[in-house]
Amino acid sequence: MASEIMEKLVALCKRRGFIFQSSEIYGGLKSCWDFGPLGVELKRNVKEAWWKSMVRSRRDVVGIDCSILMHPQVWITSGHVAGFNDPMVDCKLCKARFRADKLPESECPKEKGKRPGECKGELTEPRQFNLMFKTFMGPVEDSGAAVYLRPETAQGIFVNFKNVCDTTRVKPPFGIAQQGKSFRNEIVTENFIFRSREFEQMEMEYFVPPAEADTWYAYWRQFRYDWFIGLGISTEHLRLRDHAEDELAHYSKACADLEYLYPFGWKELEGVANRTDFDLKRHSEASGRDLTWFDEESKSRYIPWVIEPAVGVDRACLAFLCEAYHEDVVEGETRVVLKLHPKLAPYKLGIFPLVKKDGLRELALEIEDSLKADFTVYYDEGGAIGRRYRRQDEIGTPFCATIDHQTKEDGTVTIRDRDTLAQHRVHRSALADFLREKTR
Ligand code: ATP
Repeated sequence: MASEIMEKLVALCKRRGFIFQSSEIYGGLKSCWDFGPLGVELKRNVKEAWWKSMVRSRRDVVGIDCSILMHPQVWITSGHVAGFNDPMVDCKLCKARFRADKLPESECPKEKGKRPGECKGELTEPRQFNLMFKTFMGPVEDSGAAVYLRPETAQGIFVNFKNVCDTTRVKPPFGIAQQGKSFRNEIVTENFIFRSREFEQMEMEYFVPPAEADTWYAYWRQFRYDWFIGLGISTEHLRLRDHAEDELAHYSKACADLEYLYPFGWKELEGVANRTDFDLKRHSEASGRDLTWFDEESKSRYIPWVIEPAVGVDRACLAFLCEAYHEDVVEGETRVVLKLHPKLAPYKLGIFPLVKKDGLRELALEIEDSLKADFTVYYDEGGAIGRRYRRQDEIGTPFCATIDHQTKEDGTVTIRDRDTLAQHRVHRSALADFLREKTR
């Protein structure tokens, strides 16, 4: 059942232009994905909703956009060069490769339903495998020119801590937020866009006085949970799981995963961590720069502690798509509908002339033009209205407006709601306000 839903979703994503396999005409590049015309709108909407909630609508958070390639010392100091490893084992028989810490939940690729090693193949001892992608800067490929593609966006924020403090009027508690690509040479990639080697992250480092760290950790844990619920994820499909002591990264004092119930089980969607003063302290020691904060009121100096909510854009898109996917029966036919939150839907409104003649096409195009600058709208004049509705339902368009003969007389159009199927008439001059209200 679970794999059937994933198969349907993957097929829909390809059929309607949400997500394609990378380099498909050359047989594809495993674990890399391209977002098509609809996927790119969905992804932008997810990022936009995050940025608005985390940066624009707050007084205490500013944004940043750092380079992907950074000084190699950054990754030595952060501990990634020595410690960003996953233990890997190989099956000597079928040559498949697995993460040693995920063996109980992995499957032998040759014999369905069997765990790795149950296929009579012997597993090798675990070996540590560093997940960072290495490349070379400049024309000479020697070790002095080696640089890494960042495996997380957070380090760009830490090394700019002083720049931001010196150039803005922030003071703890405050945050620096960033969205951008990250790269991890994952041993196993899985479940469509859930785990890939190139992905996008949205991370925020929130710098606080040490004594306030527990309070802010609790705050962000809940804030991030509420963000997903506000965008349509049901409370039955989202949970907060606190890490046990032995699961915590060496630098973190507390961590909670926001887990989503994907068709393939409960999996991490986002992590919220109390990273202590680990990163700023290490960068301060290694760079020789003072990364402390001087508090004018108490006349004391300290290294801020950091609370970090970190989420993958691709994993969030997948969660929203899984949540939205529905099949129901309308007028005796099975309908596939993506019940995406209007804020996230690639198109906000489908615009259909009832017929192409009698000036209705021109009128519909005119209405499309009047909305295009502010909203993503989709004009469709092909086929029966019912079929046009179905096409929009399948891509998650929350509303469709039909332009008919009455529109010529009184300027009203019929609005049809994707989820309730209810219809009502609205004056064309009120369409923009209607969409603004629904997508707020
Ligand atoms: P996992 O345990 O699933 O490997 P992680 O705990 O290593 O994830 P973090 O380092 O906390 O992940 O990264 C923050 C977020 O970035 C994750 O919650 C996830 O949404 C996203 N992310 C991490 N690795 C990947 C990946 N390989 N593909 C897609 N998204 C990822």
